[in-house]
Amino acid sequence: MNPGKVVHPDALDAHLRQGSAYRPWEPATRFTYGEDDHRFSRAAARCVGVGKCRGHESGVMCPSYRATGEEEHSTRGRARLLFEMVEGDVITDGWRSATVRDALDLCLACKGCKRDCPVSVDMATYKAEFLYHHYRNRPRPLSHYSMGWLPLWSRAAAAAPRAVNALAHAPGLSRVAARAAGVDPRRPLPSFAPSRFTEAYRPEPTGGCRGRVVLWPDTFDNNFDPHIAHAAAAVLHAAGFDVEVPDRTVCCGLTWISTGQLGVAVRVLHRTLDVLGPHLRVGTPVVVLEPSCAAVFRSDLTDLLPGDEDARRLAQQTHTLGEVLARHAPDWRPPQLPRAALVQQHCHQHAVLGYTHDRDALVTAGVDVEVLDAGCCGLAGNFGFEAGHYDVSVACAEDKLMPAVRQADPGTLVVADGFSCRTQIRDLEPGARPLHSAEVLAAALRGGNGLP
Ligand code: SF4
Ligand code: SF4
Repeated sequence: MNPGKVVHPDALDAHLRQGSAYRPWEPATRFTYGEDDHRFSRAAARCVGVGKCRGHESGVMCPSYRATGEEEHSTRGRARLLFEMVEGDVITDGWRSATVRDALDLCLACKGCKRDCPVSVDMATYKAEFLYHHYRNRPRPLSHYSMGWLPLWSRAAAAAPRAVNALAHAPGLSRVAARAAGVDPRRPLPSFAPSRFTEAYRPEPTGGCRGRVVLWPDTFDNNFDPHIAHAAAAVLHAAGFDVEVPDRTVCCGLTWISTGQLGVAVRVLHRTLDVLGPHLRVGTPVVVLEPSCAAVFRSDLTDLLPGDEDARRLAQQTHTLGEVLARHAPDWRPPQLPRAALVQQHCHQHAVLGYTHDRDALVTAGVDVEVLDAGCCGLAGNFGFEAGHYDVSVACAEDKLMPAVRQADPGTLVVADGFSCRTQIRDLEPGARPLHSAEVLAAALRGGNGLP
């Protein structure tokens, strides 16, 4: 159409990202990637590149990008590197790649992208998978041994919690302990409670008009905040449930999953299913107070143990406190508590569990609830404790969450169901007293006594 202009175009299918000659590496994996044809290469190629993960406005995705502004720390940047890894042209050392490891290092595993990305890139899962292979049969970072094995250390510390606390917080010693554990010395170590929920709790039969529930004793509430598990038991009891706790040690394996120790996580989950099996097979609901543990049961569990019937049952029978009240005691009304509450939703509530029923439980008690759209608190389990992550962790919290907490009216309750969120708020605003929603509902039963 344009005389004198002669071009020699490339073939129509040249330079395609996945042309007919595309033959990616198809590694064996621990997660199943059922929605990706059971192929990690497909999961790694999910990102379509439109860059929603580079937004600052709302939702959770992507806190590390919001903190650094670097493409490498966005969901898209990480997805691109994983794609290069399976393509094998630029990144040629597969799971051993230090480039991919470094890009994944600042991923908080918040699962924000699983929910907020239009094609559900699930970077937290890809990170766990990568870390598993990257460190297989090799020494790991110190934090993987300290925080990754926290459920085991907590069990040991329960023999003498006061002595352990004294040692961990002794001037001079605390910095040494933090360094030995791969923890940033600016991060105060949490204190073990004098007695664990599972040791102190005595079930009281109610006559059981609502039937039985199992109250899940997660590592965080059982060892550090047992008053929350006691509060939840009081609420469930008042609503008419018989509350049982597992008679042997159980764990969801979260800390092993987030540090990529997936072989241990699978063994821990099998053991837990052995303990819970009799409850699961008669349909007993399992009430989980810590959102990240509930998210493991709802999402990661069946991905790590495909085809296991008890795993499928546990995924279906896992409830948050608000969910069990909504589904199994819909007519129960707690006494009214006319207080305002600012709620920091845990990332895994946002991404996996949903928050509607937990919000409704507070509203039913007369609480005036404002759910923040503040993204991730930045602590995210082991992430914010790990050496090298402190600045990004604090930047995430100071983006929206901490300004909202500081600007709240003095009588407003701060509610956060996640142990990480509560810890981050307390660390950055020592005067704040964040509560689990179980504590708020239990206080309603006492006429509001005991609330800040
Ligand atoms: S939002 Fe999802 S699809 Fe879009 S660029 Fe980010 S990771 Fe890729
Ligand atoms: S899991 Fe969270 S931090 Fe990691 S890429 Fe997804 S949104 Fe970003």
